Amino acid sequence: MKFCFAALGCKVNLFETQALEQLARERGHEIVAAGADAAVLNTCAVTSVSEHKNIRAVHRLRRDNPDAVLAVCGCFAQLDPERLGAMEEADLVCGTSDRAAVIELCEKAVREGQRGGRLGLENANTFELLRAGVPAGRTRALLKIQDGCDHYCTYCIIPYVRGHVRSMPPAAALEEARRLAASGVREIVVTGIEIASYGIDLQEKIGLTDLLCRMLAENPEVRFRLGSLEPRIADESFCGRLKGFPNLAPHFHLSLQSGCDAVLKRMHRRYSTILYRENAARLREAFPGCSLTTI
Ligand code: SF4
Repeated sequence: MKFCFAALGCKVNLFETQALEQLARERGHEIVAAGADAAVLNTCAVTSVSEHKNIRAVHRLRRDNPDAVLAVCGCFAQLDPERLGAMEEADLVCGTSDRAAVIELCEKAVREGQRGGRLGLENANTFELLRAGVPAGRTRALLKIQDGCDHYCTYCIIPYVRGHVRSMPPAAALEEARRLAASGVREIVVTGIEIASYGIDLQEKIGLTDLLCRMLAENPEVRFRLGSLEPRIADESFCGRLKGFPNLAPHFHLSLQSGCDAVLKRMHRRYSTILYRENAARLREAFPGCSLTTI
């Protein structure tokens, strides 16, 4: 069968889409840009314009794949499955869990001509292990180590559509990093919905810094880059333990959201502008010349 994939939104969505592509390849399918038998769209729900973008993407995929079974997945599908299910173009609606079954559901729908399937619309309680897919000709891979969020910032819908924090078991994360390194990947982007929360749900006492130290030490030939970070993570332990690793990319994206303490408080962000400044300064001291970015 021919499969076509498209993703909107963040790096986690991109990771999950690449993982589904990989799964489709492993099941013997061909990946095409148009004219597919099955098309999968991974939607986003993070901003107020997301709905419009998702709907436009559904129309575009249908136009490019007129005969395909079209599966709409991801955060917006989880948030409003009825809205998408009511669209004539959307044959299957799949949420943010049980992604590994999406390919099988598409195969079945193509084979049996069944439409209207629903999948994974309950928030998951465990981390779903998906093998990272690396697009042909690329030497950079995304590695998702965490899903969900427990912070419930005032403006953010993510905890409702992604569920509670779930962390990839450390042994699996380290194994995946080793597998990617052995396959020739030169840079791994460590990503998740809120990676600073890594480990809080695990029995083993392990946090993001511990996991990164192990990954960096085990794969000295690979550069590791970190996805967006909650500013509180950049404490003395984080900076002190990671600064000795030459294979950690000196780029840190510390999410600020607002430079006004009153607004941060109303947003239920758990840091102040003073803490943000202190941690940014600590990063600059530990990683001289590093890039600091924010939104
Ligand atoms: S920490 Fe990030 S993902 Fe979690 S609720 Fe806040 S903005 Fe949303």
